Amino acid sequence: MALVSYLEAAEEIRRFVLARAESGGFLGEVGEESASLTETVALGAAAGRVLAEGIQADRDQPPFPRSTRDGFACRAAEASTNQLLFVAGQLRAGDTPPAGLGVGEIWEIMTGAPVPEGADAVFMVEHAERSSEPNSAGDFVRLAAPRTVEPGENIVARGAEARAGDLLVSPGIRLGAAQIALAAQCGYNRLRVAVRPRVAILSTGDELVPVESEPGPSQIRNSNAPMLAALVEAAGGEAVVLPAVPDQDAPLEAAIQQALQADLLLVTGGISAGRFDLVEGALTRAGAQFFFGGVAIQPGKPVVFGELSRPGRLPLPFLALPGNPISSAVTFLLFAAPLLAALAGDSSALPRFALAQLLGEWRGNPGLTRFLPAWCDFGLASEVRLAPWQGSGDIAAFASSNCFLVVPPDAEEIPEGSVVRILLP
Ligand code: AMP
Ligand code: MG
Repeated sequence: MALVSYLEAAEEIRRFVLARAESGGFLGEVGEESASLTETVALGAAAGRVLAEGIQADRDQPPFPRSTRDGFACRAAEASTNQLLFVAGQLRAGDTPPAGLGVGEIWEIMTGAPVPEGADAVFMVEHAERSSEPNSAGDFVRLAAPRTVEPGENIVARGAEARAGDLLVSPGIRLGAAQIALAAQCGYNRLRVAVRPRVAILSTGDELVPVESEPGPSQIRNSNAPMLAALVEAAGGEAVVLPAVPDQDAPLEAAIQQALQADLLLVTGGISAGRFDLVEGALTRAGAQFFFGGVAIQPGKPVVFGELSRPGRLPLPFLALPGNPISSAVTFLLFAAPLLAALAGDSSALPRFALAQLLGEWRGNPGLTRFLPAWCDFGLASEVRLAPWQGSGDIAAFASSNCFLVVPPDAEEIPEGSVVRILLP
């Protein structure tokens, strides 16, 4: 199959996702209600899950006019004359405020306490001056001259943040700390979330042994399976690691049949032009339809995207990723992560890119969009430096990187100091 550009490949993934969204769903049986594809989890277990219901305000936020300072609740006009005012009482957070505020009165108030009706401002305790003469009539305080206070100062009005019934977070948002705080504020101790898509991970290669085995002199440990499982879990999926298969047709075909239960299939290795690269043939015999069969990127060129039809269910999307570990990781981030996010009902845009300033320079041949392991110092300056590597099998170099430098396909050199794009993990 002909190579497509990175952008054409990304567009192909997007087209697939949009077509699935239009046809009414991503997971489950054909025609199945999407409600059955959600589950309810405790708020404490909801981080990283994709919200499947809206979060609504159960009451106004704040529910009462809230003082944002320790100080004195007052009428702004009165306090701004800097006259002594009678301290009628004290309000702590959680207290019920008095019904009103008499003329010439103020209330001492703490941060988070409700402002009494009639008061329209809070002046800070740091700006208060207590009457010097002890007064049997009680405590008197003035706003120190020449300060004044504006109506509304240091008060968040009731309902200024949200009104009861407002939809504050829509379904399709991946839950982070902020959304969890909001759900707690609105009284959700459980949340309805999308089920995690099951991602079958199938490693292929005669040379592979499982991590727990001792490799022979020419064998290597299967590092792609646990790497992809980690990527899948981080992207919101549930990894189902299948036993690795050798480069032989029959076991490969059997493993593909087994993977038809999954929501997404990732195969690694066996997809290049070598004599024992049998994956494309096995997928073809399983009835695959191919959307692209190679992308003009480095690493990761021999990456294949398609779907397998199966009885009673929507076709199973699959990505056959090249076996080299960095190629697998890059093609996962570029193509599998957005697919997986869509399957999980997550509306965030993936992959994620950022800008950084290049330390050192890059030179090379044009023609491919490159994603080169790099280290970005994500301080204020965001400076990125290439990680020296021995090519796409160099897991040690990969492990000392935290992003990928994106080299556009027409570039022959990128001078030191250039603003460059990086792909975030
Ligand atoms: P392939 O894509 O099958 O031609 O493999 C390319 C390179 O990646 C070879 O050096 C393989 O040994 C290596 N490789 C393939 N699969 C894995 C795996 N699961 N874990 C680690 N390395 C792998
Ligand atoms: Mg191989």
